[in-house]
Amino acid sequence: MKSESPTALVVGAGIIGLTSAFRLAQSGHSVTIFDPTPARGATWASAGMLAPSAETSPGEESNYALQSGAVIMWHGLSDELFALTGSRVSIHETGTLLVGWDVSDRRLVDQAAHVASSFGAACHEVDREGSAEFFTALSARITQGLFMPDDAWVDPDQAVDILLRALEVLDVHVVTEVVQSVSADAAGVQAKTATGSFSASKGILATGALNVPGGAVTSGVHVVRPVHGVTMRVNGVDRSSLPTVRAFVRGRNFYMVSRPGGYCVLGATAEERSDLSVQVGELQRLLRDALDIVPSLETATVLENRFGLRPASDDLRPFFEALPLGGWAWSSGHYRHGVTLAPLAAQWALNFVEGPA
Ligand SMILES: Cc1cc2nc3c(=O)[nH]c(=O)nc-3n(C[C@H](O)[C@H](O)[C@H](O)COP(=O)(O)OP(=O)(O)OC[C@H]3O[C@@H](n4cnc5c(N)ncnc54)[C@H](O)[C@@H]3O)c2cc1C
Repeated sequence: MKSESPTALVVGAGIIGLTSAFRLAQSGHSVTIFDPTPARGATWASAGMLAPSAETSPGEESNYALQSGAVIMWHGLSDELFALTGSRVSIHETGTLLVGWDVSDRRLVDQAAHVASSFGAACHEVDREGSAEFFTALSARITQGLFMPDDAWVDPDQAVDILLRALEVLDVHVVTEVVQSVSADAAGVQAKTATGSFSASKGILATGALNVPGGAVTSGVHVVRPVHGVTMRVNGVDRSSLPTVRAFVRGRNFYMVSRPGGYCVLGATAEERSDLSVQVGELQRLLRDALDIVPSLETATVLENRFGLRPASDDLRPFFEALPLGGWAWSSGHYRHGVTLAPLAAQWALNFVEGPA
């Protein structure tokens, strides 16, 4: 470690911890990041959509604003990572096509159009007659939809891979262990693992939907609850040059993120539970919705299922809390949008670490 540099600890190497560690290290901090299984939490399951427009929900205007800003930041982050590693996180600016399966679902699309427009999100109606290509591979029953041009997607595996390489270039110390407890005193912050004790000036807890380590007393203002979700990965339909399909199907949400070559991420289930088991019923519902909207998935090959816990806060907003335990902050609550919000969370981490002692 560079002994004269200011030092920081980051607990958790999901997309939030990784981008935070990158931002800190790139700003001259000597960083240690801890995770027994880097990027195998919610980040692993994520579809990687950067979709502020399609994610609008009544009452969540501030979330829309945060996500829109974060999408712009992704471009800068991708450039910085390219400068450091020679690899760029590809940001696929395909937009989103939102469709409905039956009459009630189409009413949900109309409502989404209303909410998105009221937040200032660009969107307009399209139909098969005027924009036939947009409806490639979709059920013939779907003849109209809502196009949201500003949405994009990244491949989270690619982002994680490049971030890890950047951390290596920046000499970040990666400790593949659980942090069991944290503490703080006048000298700074400390983290304990099964094999060692680490100290630094400041620390960030980026533990996603999991409990913060022992000793990290939070203010109680924020709580995080896990929302279980599964994405299924298949190969066989290539809509990668077209808008990401999102649909309401019998009131449920469905999406298909299509990557070049036919790899598709189908998602996502959402259940209020904290166990990581994948249930037959949730897969059945997901596949039923998928086949209704994209019938040609019938012959697609199943690759794998991924599952994770979305970290949801009480008000569904991300938060960055300076803990009463001085020197530590807690970055969580990114819920369905953590990949999107990661560059913003990283900036909040830097502001905290470089802020007043
Ligand atoms: C099915 C699904 C689909 C999604 N799709 C999208 C999408 O399309 N777009 C989008 O923007 N977001 C999406 N999300 C949300 C996004 O994945 C999450 O908001 C984001 O991954 C949260 O990142 P994180 O780093 O906070 O948490 P995580 O990725 O869960 O990482 C937390 C890490 O902390 C580590 N950890 C916990 N405790 C400790 C400890 N004591 N010591 C050391 N390490 C510890 C864990 O091992 C884990 O690796 C999706 C989520 C799911 C589940």
